[in-house]
Amino acid sequence: DKKTAASYKPTPMMEQFLEIKGANPDSLLFYRMGDFYELFFDDAVQASKALGITLTKRGKHLGEDIPMCGVPVHAADGYLDRLIALGYKVSVCEQTEDPAEAKKRGAKSVVRRDVVRLVTPGTLTEESLLDSGSSNYLASVSRVKNGDEGHLYGLSWLELSTGDFGVLQLDHLRLGAELARLDPREIIVSDHMLMDEDFQPLKDMLRTSISPVPRAFFDGSTAADRLMGYFGLSTLDGYGHFERVELMAASAVLAYVEKTQLGARPPLNPPQRELSSRTMSIDAATRANLELVRTLSGDKKGSLLSVIDKTVTGGGSRLLAARLAAPLAQLDGIIARQNSIAWFLQQTGLREDLREGLKAAPDMPRALSRLSLDRGGPRDLGAIRSGFSAIFALLSHIGSAAQSEPLPQEIGDAATALQAMPEMLGQSLSEALNDELPLQKRDGGFVRTGYDAGLDELRSLRDESRRVIASLQADYANETGIKALKVKHNNVLGYFLEVTANNADKMMSAPLNERFIHRQTLANAVRFTTTELADLEARIASAGAKVIAIELSIFDRLRDQVLAAVDLIQKAARALATLDVSTALACLADEQNYCRPLMDDSLAFEVSAGRHPVVELALSRDGGDPFVANDCDLSPQAGHDNGRIWLMTGPNMAGKSTYLRQNALIAILAQMGSFVPADQAHIGLVDRLFSRVGAADDLARGRSTFMVEMVETAAILNQAGERSLVILDEIGRGTSTFDGLSIAWATIESLHEVNRSRALFATHYHELTVLHEKLPRLNNATVKVKEWQGDVVFLHEIVPGAADRSYGIQVAKLAGLPDVVINRARDVLESLEEGDRQSPALTIDDLPLFSATAQKEVNKETDFLRDALNGINPDDMSPREAQQALYRLKGLV
Ligand code: ADP
Repeated sequence: DKKTAASYKPTPMMEQFLEIKGANPDSLLFYRMGDFYELFFDDAVQASKALGITLTKRGKHLGEDIPMCGVPVHAADGYLDRLIALGYKVSVCEQTEDPAEAKKRGAKSVVRRDVVRLVTPGTLTEESLLDSGSSNYLASVSRVKNGDEGHLYGLSWLELSTGDFGVLQLDHLRLGAELARLDPREIIVSDHMLMDEDFQPLKDMLRTSISPVPRAFFDGSTAADRLMGYFGLSTLDGYGHFERVELMAASAVLAYVEKTQLGARPPLNPPQRELSSRTMSIDAATRANLELVRTLSGDKKGSLLSVIDKTVTGGGSRLLAARLAAPLAQLDGIIARQNSIAWFLQQTGLREDLREGLKAAPDMPRALSRLSLDRGGPRDLGAIRSGFSAIFALLSHIGSAAQSEPLPQEIGDAATALQAMPEMLGQSLSEALNDELPLQKRDGGFVRTGYDAGLDELRSLRDESRRVIASLQADYANETGIKALKVKHNNVLGYFLEVTANNADKMMSAPLNERFIHRQTLANAVRFTTTELADLEARIASAGAKVIAIELSIFDRLRDQVLAAVDLIQKAARALATLDVSTALACLADEQNYCRPLMDDSLAFEVSAGRHPVVELALSRDGGDPFVANDCDLSPQAGHDNGRIWLMTGPNMAGKSTYLRQNALIAILAQMGSFVPADQAHIGLVDRLFSRVGAADDLARGRSTFMVEMVETAAILNQAGERSLVILDEIGRGTSTFDGLSIAWATIESLHEVNRSRALFATHYHELTVLHEKLPRLNNATVKVKEWQGDVVFLHEIVPGAADRSYGIQVAKLAGLPDVVINRARDVLESLEEGDRQSPALTIDDLPLFSATAQKEVNKETDFLRDALNGINPDDMSPREAQQALYRLKGLV
């Protein structure tokens, strides 16, 4: 019937909503209605759950209630932030015309609206949505078949704010490592690949938001054209040769940027092919285990980065994190960085001056990216302006230091980049902009008085008219004899004068009613206007509109000038970050007593009095025992070509893990160009760092600790070489003793004979210490403990030799196991050890290499024969049963 048919027809507004939603199906649609962004239908259900806001309803669609929820516009950033963090994408749909315009078209017509941007985790630019200390990478992964050998991958990544744009071809293993290094906020892959079974393991590993895009984004045949189009080039040859799979990944990232920015093209650097040999390769598991940028539980606090980060700017903090994520594998780069730190260690005065100056430096790259996307406001221009003044101050400090001593290269280059900032631009920004700036450009008020004569004139016209209006109140009060008469303003009526209700009659009768025109009657007040007032108001409005128009055009002009200098500004921003990182690392070295490691391309790894940077700091904060520094020497011994393996034994809690990790961290710090927590260090470049330390169960992926451990160990044995550094902690712990021992045994042999890497290997299998008799580059080391009245005291001191006991019971006592249990355990241990002496365990001579495995087999066989025999009671058997039992036993062997 007619009535239902009508209720099935969407309202004009809902029609508009459905159309816009239809065009943006993969994101939550923030639909602007006045002071709110409203969400409807399933978007509303999801958002209300995610944000914990009330779900209501509004009208009906196809006979059903329409779920709705909303967030106030002024608080939208906070909600956006939470949705983005949860992996949602949001389309922001704004009113693109004044509601008054819509009314002119007809009472029922809907305000025009359009999606003005798509907010995704990898393409954020808002100050409030970005973490100033971390990069915000968007990455893409492409893939091509590589004959019969599986797939080749392309990885591309970019940072909207800095314009960094990189690309790399790599295999499956390295892809995981590189993604772990970049730690992108968002990864795009083709929807096709996302469904592919081969891709699932990688997908499971990535804890970041993955956005499927149509396959066409990755189309290899148009990829080069898309890149050339973006950069306005007719060939890419100037940037080197790109593999097809690299072009595919790079062009997909660009396509996604264009999609999310609705066609705007932020300034990017042309893609850089990253050579994998340039940096130390650290796989994802190693990165996580060593807690480089966050701890295993996901906190920043307690990570290596949190302890070494003394930077004072967002850009510096991001650069430090990037250096930590990608330690160099090339000497000249490392040494250049060390030189800067060494210089700032000496120049303490300059260092402090620069750090003070840097604190005043704004985050120029992020302001630039907003300006380039037409999302910037007066404060973004202001950021560039204060960049100029900060740079000016810094340069004067560096300049005077340079007079007495030549600058290290990195610092000299930075100074050059800072000098190249176009001074004229700085001047026009300071001339044009007020000291205090509003957030939004649309309200005006940011252009300095005296900058533009026309603007000043209009402003004074506007302000003069306001003053005239203010003085009118007194005139009108005189004229009417109504003392309580007030001139007021609101958005509906504009300027009006108001009298109380009991004066209304006077105003509305002759002669006053000729001049005073009635506008509105309220309960207690009546409102009037005059032609004079209306004229003034029109003048204010038109002057005001002209003022805004002029200010906006000045804004646009300044923005264009800034964007014309985008390259120079980005270079200067990088220089600021470099200065920040170098001074910060010098501070760190100074405060924490770090030393400059001697770096070369030998296979040395010699650390004297090394410390664990994080544990050391934690101990000193707790005010307990000081950290015990320890040496480590994995350098090749005389007469050998390869480095050494140290086999560490010692009780739990003695400090083995700490020691293992500290040496891995020292290698990373050294190769990121930092000084290291030690008295002295000599390190031959490490090309790959592997660590397998204390992984937890990965139940989310259905893997036991043991499985995780074996997967990681396999990766090490398959990849480590003589230039690698390998850190292995407690291999084989998650399985039966003999299994575990044999796996650990074979792993050490392989590391020694096949991989020939420098390695630290901690184990609780004391049996392994005999291996050093057969493996010449294997050294035993242990952690010293002191026994005192049956208790154990950990000295945390690493010494040559093997641990004699594991002190498990003493440690258990320290942990508070009840005394009865401890005493009983002592008895059991004693009788076990007694039994051991009567039937001596394995010795090295019974055990040729790999025989632990064989021994296990023998034991298993005898054990189960013994079981079978134990199950037989000859007295209870008939002769026939006895014969059958014999057959059965024979069948068992
Ligand atoms: P293990 O791996 O041998 O079980 P850990 O390396 O986990 O032992 O160390 C146990 C605790 O001992 C650490 O939490 C730390 O507080 C302390 N510790 C470890 N090494 C040192 C050291 N060199 N100096 C002082 N305390 C240390």
